[in-house]
Amino acid sequence: MMRLLVLDDDPDIGQTVRSMAETLGYQCQVTTRPDDFFNALDDWHPSHILLDLVMPEMDGMEVIRHLADRRCDAALIISSGLGGRVIDAASRAASQHQLSMAGVLVKPFSFRDLRTLLGRQPPAPPLPRTRDGAAPPALTPAMLDEAIQNNQIGLVYQPKVQCGDDTVTVGFEALARWQHPQWGAIPPDRFILLAEREGLIEALTRKVLIQACATMAGIRRARGAAADHWSMAVNLSARCLTQFDMVDKLVTLCQLHGLEPRHLTLELTETAAMEDGVLALDLLTRLRMKGFQLAIDDFGVGYSSMVQLARLPFSELKLDKAFVAAAGHSREARTIIRSAVDLGHQLDLKVIGEGVESGEALAFLSEVGCDFVQGYYIARPMGKEAIGAWLDGRGGAG
Ligand code: C2E
Ligand code: CA
Ligand code: CA
Repeated sequence: MMRLLVLDDDPDIGQTVRSMAETLGYQCQVTTRPDDFFNALDDWHPSHILLDLVMPEMDGMEVIRHLADRRCDAALIISSGLGGRVIDAASRAASQHQLSMAGVLVKPFSFRDLRTLLGRQPPAPPLPRTRDGAAPPALTPAMLDEAIQNNQIGLVYQPKVQCGDDTVTVGFEALARWQHPQWGAIPPDRFILLAEREGLIEALTRKVLIQACATMAGIRRARGAAADHWSMAVNLSARCLTQFDMVDKLVTLCQLHGLEPRHLTLELTETAAMEDGVLALDLLTRLRMKGFQLAIDDFGVGYSSMVQLARLPFSELKLDKAFVAAAGHSREARTIIRSAVDLGHQLDLKVIGEGVESGEALAFLSEVGCDFVQGYYIARPMGKEAIGAWLDGRGGAG
């Protein structure tokens, strides 16, 4: 059942939203005070929440924090009469708190604006739950260590395609999933940090690399020449850059699977690449000299200076998905994307937009000359057994 819970201190707005939502087939409850809102949240389990940012008793950011503490999985819509910049910031904060953002509404909004957001499928809740609805327990280092040893860390693969012609595949990104026997698929946001902190990330990355190379070799066997220019991307943490023998290990791994280094792309966040400037520069240069591709991930949210970025031998720049998601409603986001595409091209990098969820986002990225795209609009991450059918199902150049 679709249920919308509204928190807005202006009762008139609440009533207007209620009649709009009911027209759209929603049940709707309107609250004007945080106490009533949280009571309704507990008793009524809404599928959607519409939250006003500025209220006298408690501001919207506090409400967002409480929602995060309660691991609320309703799709969240933030509304405000404040400028787009403030709403953008709040929406980013909500996503960082692992809430499912359905979108933002700048007041005054129309029936159409609301319909667009309510009509959209809410994103999957970020935290896995068991059938009885319980959230998983705190994950411990021992549990993760065991999971790595027992091959419970699997991979899903998300296609990367050409921006102007999304029938042209350029590669895949391998994304880790912890297949927990009891809790199901645990997303990486919940265990990568733990692995980094507990010194388990090297072992985890090794398992990831082996699986990613095996899958890439399988794809190449099945697809022949069409797949020759495709590259499999793997995410590397900063800590992996402190292993002196990493370059040789990677070369050996590729040889073992009949891959050339160019069939592997290593994705690093800008912060990771900067952490130990000298060592990273040395290692990244050696990787590039061997022919591996290097992508700078989550571009735009780190703290690198342009000078440092220009010094590092990257081949690809991945715009952070927060900017791509905001492109539809934020002029700031569009400006950042445009500038990043230009900067990337000036530095001879391919620019890829990730987190593309709509045709509008895709159209904007093509318009500004982005090279590649990746996102739910093109394809969700999939198991390796689904790759063949996905490639077959879309025609084009493969
Ligand atoms: P990332 O490298 O930025 O990966 C992209 C994330 O965005 C993935 O989440 C992907 O499923 C998600 N995504 C893809 N398309 C869309 C879209 O259209 N909309 C939205 N909202 N999201 C989209 P995932 O798989 O949960 O991974 C989260 C992060 O965990 C990754 O972010 C990466 O930083 C890290 N990670 C994943 N696998 C590994 C790994 O093997 N090693 C390391 N070190 N980190 C990993
Ligand atoms: Ca990545
Ligand atoms: Ca990213």
